[in-house]
Amino acid sequence: MPETTFRRVLANDFSRQWEIIREAALEAVDRVGRSGWLVLGEEVREFEKQLAAWWGTNYAVGVASGLDALEIALRCARIPAGARVLTTPLTAFATTLAILRAGLEPVWCDVDQSGNLDLDHIELTLRNDREIKAILPVHLYGHPMDPCALERLADDHDVIIIEDCAQSAGAERAGRPTGVTGVAAGTSFYPTKNLGGLGDGGALLTNDPEIAEQASRLRDYGQSARYRHTELGLNSRLDELQAAILRSALLPRLDAWLARRHAIAERYVEAFDGTRIRPIMATGGCSAHHLFPVEVLEMDPTAVAERIACQGVVLGRHYPVVCPDQPAARGLGETIGSLEVARRLANNEISLPLHPHLDDHEVEAVINACLEAIT
Ligand SMILES: *Cc1c(COP(=O)(O)O)cnc(C)c1O
Repeated sequence: MPETTFRRVLANDFSRQWEIIREAALEAVDRVGRSGWLVLGEEVREFEKQLAAWWGTNYAVGVASGLDALEIALRCARIPAGARVLTTPLTAFATTLAILRAGLEPVWCDVDQSGNLDLDHIELTLRNDREIKAILPVHLYGHPMDPCALERLADDHDVIIIEDCAQSAGAERAGRPTGVTGVAAGTSFYPTKNLGGLGDGGALLTNDPEIAEQASRLRDYGQSARYRHTELGLNSRLDELQAAILRSALLPRLDAWLARRHAIAERYVEAFDGTRIRPIMATGGCSAHHLFPVEVLEMDPTAVAERIACQGVVLGRHYPVVCPDQPAARGLGETIGSLEVARRLANNEISLPLHPHLDDHEVEAVINACLEAIT
């Protein structure tokens, strides 16, 4: 290939995003600056209202990160202190960290071919272990877990569900968004996420007014009124600037960006059909296509990834090490079984570029690089 046509295909492209949002973002910054109010004001309230309306929940509470949203959700969910929480080993470490920081004990169960928790494993584990009081499922890669199955598990085994929706903004299954099946959910505005801000941020989502109120206190030192601290809270406030930019520059474009993610994912699926590249997908519902994870069959994944990368395609790994194997988790929590599928995916998974600012040429370049790498 001649030098001049060689262009890297990025995993994310924040410069291109900036060109699109620049005017609206600068206007939002100016609005906040002129208002003279920088933390927990009108911008956060208005963004929370619009996010809740977009997501389809009664309340959204803006916090400093997805990790904090999950910790606060767990703390508000009336789970007995120190209880065991069933979760997935194949996720961002923040999922596990939220459980530990909330004073609870993670119990890691295996996943299925979609990368999400295996429902049969969950059922069996809950039947054998009455000490598990909650489930923290992750809608990994944007693929929604079956809400009816989760609901049935919660009813049959009397467990509380808190959902990790950091990757699933825009996902739907059985006519509902992720995040409304449990008592509360956490999502993230980390820049790479589907609704990514220009920095850190997150939100707790819930239909329960008491949880929303408690979360608003916990994010602000546990204050119930100024200088009155009724709980040991955090400093986890979403600031006015981030809220203003999210509301004015990013949220209004989210639906169009999700549609572009769908179109790219569809093209990938079609191109890899019948090849050794297996997209890691769920069979039901409508994915938010946060990532496009694949598994390479019958070949060394590292060698294939190197060959794809040589063509200028930037690849990701989600996630190369399962949570219980992280040094920080040593001696904590419990692993059920050998986590065979989670470990296999951790070893083999490759994430192809999937973001709304990829053009059609880049999508074809990714496909060509992949098909070449497996021949
Ligand atoms: C990004 C992410 C988080 C954490 O969100 P932060 O805003 O980075 O704290 C938690 N869970 C999953 C699945 C994520 O992808």
